[in-house]
Amino acid sequence: MATLHPTRRVQALMPLYVQRFACIGAQCEDTCCSGWTVAIDKKTYESYLQTDQAALAERMSAAVQRLDPPPSDAHHARIALQPDTGECPLLEERLCAVQKALGEDKLSDVCFTYPRKVQQAGEVYQQALSLSCPEAARLALLAEDAFEFTEGPIAVRPAVVAQLQPQSGLSLDLMNEVRFFCLQVVRGEGLQLWQKLAVLGLFCERLEQALQAGAPGRVADLMQSTRELITSGQAAALCEGIAAQHDMQALTFHLLWRFSETLHARPTQRGVFEAIAAGLGADPHTGELPQAQLIARYQEGLALLPTALQAAPVLMQHLVLNDMLRDMFPFGSNASDDKAKPSAQFLRLAARFGLVRFMLAVQCRTDAPLPQPSALVRTVQVFARRFQHDTGFAARVDTCFESMGWGGVEKLFRLLSP
Ligand code: SF4
Repeated sequence: MATLHPTRRVQALMPLYVQRFACIGAQCEDTCCSGWTVAIDKKTYESYLQTDQAALAERMSAAVQRLDPPPSDAHHARIALQPDTGECPLLEERLCAVQKALGEDKLSDVCFTYPRKVQQAGEVYQQALSLSCPEAARLALLAEDAFEFTEGPIAVRPAVVAQLQPQSGLSLDLMNEVRFFCLQVVRGEGLQLWQKLAVLGLFCERLEQALQAGAPGRVADLMQSTRELITSGQAAALCEGIAAQHDMQALTFHLLWRFSETLHARPTQRGVFEAIAAGLGADPHTGELPQAQLIARYQEGLALLPTALQAAPVLMQHLVLNDMLRDMFPFGSNASDDKAKPSAQFLRLAARFGLVRFMLAVQCRTDAPLPQPSALVRTVQVFARRFQHDTGFAARVDTCFESMGWGGVEKLFRLLSP
């Protein structure tokens, strides 16, 4: 049978958890596509029309709908998921019928790639995973050495490798240096995670100013002065003076969270939604949640969260590192994103960090014993499934932060401070 999607082997940089990952198939508590619409690229769609396996062809013609007009070759058709379970209608005993009958080569680009994301920045290929996959989330968030980096061969479909483009007069080599510098700030010792994020916020603001001024030559000095800010203890001193604004944190992140509540919770996600609903204690009939109660419950949960995280000490840090790697922080992985400026990237990173912390804190506030690491990981996984692949999330963050008056990096620090 002719190869439909040729692959290429390349050497890629990846964290250890990526190298350790293997899909657990039918043992998985979720499925790759639950809750989403599966995009089918043009080449795959046309091959499905020609399949000679009658039973599969019949199922595919019922499940796969061509888009009219297709917005792009990558989104030429779609598989609508089962309305009751949110699962793909082409699953058989929780395994993909297309892969089973036709092989991996006949999977659409999206199905072949998930949960992996491969990116290329100049000579450097890198691979990360989406934490919306439960097995990826466990491996990334619980193992202490998950974010040690290694190199290894991977098979890629060249058409789906995201390319980092040179921006604002920066070479790709310098952009890679900046990206790994930012990861190093988060991996470094001596500051709390939110303080490291605050340092990144300052760095991004200054980086953007330098790029807007047409002075990419200042970038190396900026990295050096940021290192000195940390090692001299000035960064810690600066952060000590920042007072947390728990009331505004609760209101802001609840606003973002509520959008997700309006979507139908899939059966596999229900436990997390129930734990958060119990933690907030909204009226079960009217959904009413007085502001004072929301703030009090969030604060109580925030006070409990460090104890719950003692059993998963790297969870929050690894969450942030994965986010940064996947999104090629601080440049963004979407070349067509006109908001792909470092300060906008930072705002989105801070929003995702704050929203996950809100969900985990509220989960801790339920009357049950504190959640175990597996339950915390599950919450992050549901977060990633709900928000990380949602193309409208970034726009909602921008609107929400603007309406709540969080413009400017220094104001954002009060949103980060616990
Ligand atoms: S979500 Fe992850 S572990 Fe589960 S079936 Fe998909 S790739 Fe495998």
